[in-house]
Amino acid sequence: CSLGEFWSWGRGKIRFSTSVSAAQPISPSAVTEEPINPAVKINHTQLLINGQFVDAASGESEDVNRAVAAARKAFDEGPWPRMTAYERSLIMFRFADLLEKHREEIAGLETWDNGKPYEQFANIELPMVIRQFRYYAGWADKIHGLTVPADGHLHVQTLHEPFGVAALIVPWNFPLLLYSWKVGAALACGNTVVVKTSEQTPLSALYVSKLFHEAGLPPGVLNVICGFGPSAGASLCSHMDVDKVSFTGSTDTAKTVLELAAKSNLKSATLELGGKSPFIVCEDADIDKAAELAHSALFFNQGQCCVAGSRTFVHESAYDEFVEKAKTLALNRVVGDPFKKGVEQGPQIDNRQMLKILKYIRSGIEDGATLEAGGERFGSKGCYVQPTVFSNVLDDMLIAKDEIFGPVQSISKFSNLEEVVRRANATRYGLAAGVFTQNIDTANTLTRALRAGTIWINCYDIFDAAIPFGGYKMSGQGREKGLNGLTNYLQVKAVVTPLKNPAWL
Ligand code: NAD
Repeated sequence: CSLGEFWSWGRGKIRFSTSVSAAQPISPSAVTEEPINPAVKINHTQLLINGQFVDAASGESEDVNRAVAAARKAFDEGPWPRMTAYERSLIMFRFADLLEKHREEIAGLETWDNGKPYEQFANIELPMVIRQFRYYAGWADKIHGLTVPADGHLHVQTLHEPFGVAALIVPWNFPLLLYSWKVGAALACGNTVVVKTSEQTPLSALYVSKLFHEAGLPPGVLNVICGFGPSAGASLCSHMDVDKVSFTGSTDTAKTVLELAAKSNLKSATLELGGKSPFIVCEDADIDKAAELAHSALFFNQGQCCVAGSRTFVHESAYDEFVEKAKTLALNRVVGDPFKKGVEQGPQIDNRQMLKILKYIRSGIEDGATLEAGGERFGSKGCYVQPTVFSNVLDDMLIAKDEIFGPVQSISKFSNLEEVVRRANATRYGLAAGVFTQNIDTANTLTRALRAGTIWINCYDIFDAAIPFGGYKMSGQGREKGLNGLTNYLQVKAVVTPLKNPAWL
């Protein structure tokens, strides 16, 4: 991040002085016609168990049992937890090199499966995936315990050991990125894993997991199943041979995950869940930059982001100017075929999601918010939604309370800091928050007052492999990425030995 510009995952390289061009109506002609033709070959559609692609037996618990048995055997008897940490690290580095080599196929598969713009995935998400694996490969041989100065004549050491078999449950919005956070950390610590992809987006995980085996991963260490949540996902959570579950998805499903984990073997659970993140624009903020970033904070990935800045609070002094800029940005957003150059917004994940978003938009209109842009389905084919902006949104409206998970920006007005802190924190979620101000005291005050796992000051959506990520309140338990992410997959063993000769001889 250098002065004047930095990378944001929504908009590429952002310049602070970016100004907004005149409003254009959204029309399909905004879509560039230049196609991108990556080599997309769908070779792997079976389950990956014990290093082999196999047909699903039933799509339910039988497949889960096979995958868990393979992971259990690989942990209890196989070389992965027993090889040197340096050897594990080398395999992970080789895997990251293979990801680089196969960028085009991987990006093609992810776009094909999810609908996210190819350029977005290839230029923003995939480099983050590769970096995450290299980051954790680097940690593999640096994980160690401590010597503890306990009372008495004792030699006390702690050993940091893997949990065993970890079930890693991934949603559809960032299929490969979230795979990298979980698989990278779990394997670096010496666990073996069963990944359950979302039923909607299994292709990239299957493809890259094959590459992991080419890099030298022993069979059974990384198994991938793709069944439905209430059957395959639930069986994993209640499996007695699974020691750890790491789940990313909705807050409601997380309650089931915790219940199943508790009722079976009390397995440890890490949860990354939903959000309704405030994006606060103070009166002294750089309004151009704040409007640009508020736009990408909400619209990136078709609005299907757990950290989406879905409650934009703007100080009354800058409100009208901000709303005008937000409207212009939404009207200029390029929506269309994700395999075309310059497209910023592809389709929603499926028809159900699109209909849910359109219902929320109708509720915003009925509740009396002002529709500034969009408001309807985009075109008549596919699951596209117009980039939509509401102003004059009140806190008790449904669009201000529920996680919409779509391209719908809600803008509200505030008068002072005490008020905006109270309103920003008045949610069951606590995943992230954005603060735009040029006053260091305001930034420090809001940083401490806001109850969220990440606070972005004059930036948004900055995700680095080393930065811990997770939620306060009902947005989650535990942290992923960074050093904190490793602790999810480690147990601490204390070893106590009385010293025969406490003094130096
Ligand atoms: P979801 O909760 O329906 O599904 C997530 C995963 O859990 C899928 O793999 C699904 O098959 C599985 N699943 C569903 N029911 C299950 C059950 N009973 N037992 C075990 N597993 C089950 O969520 P989704 O619709 O795939 O994803 C969207 C949600 O995820 C949003 O609410 C979003 O905010 C949240 N999310 C959070 C983060 C984060 O890091 N905090 C990241 C991405 C998405």
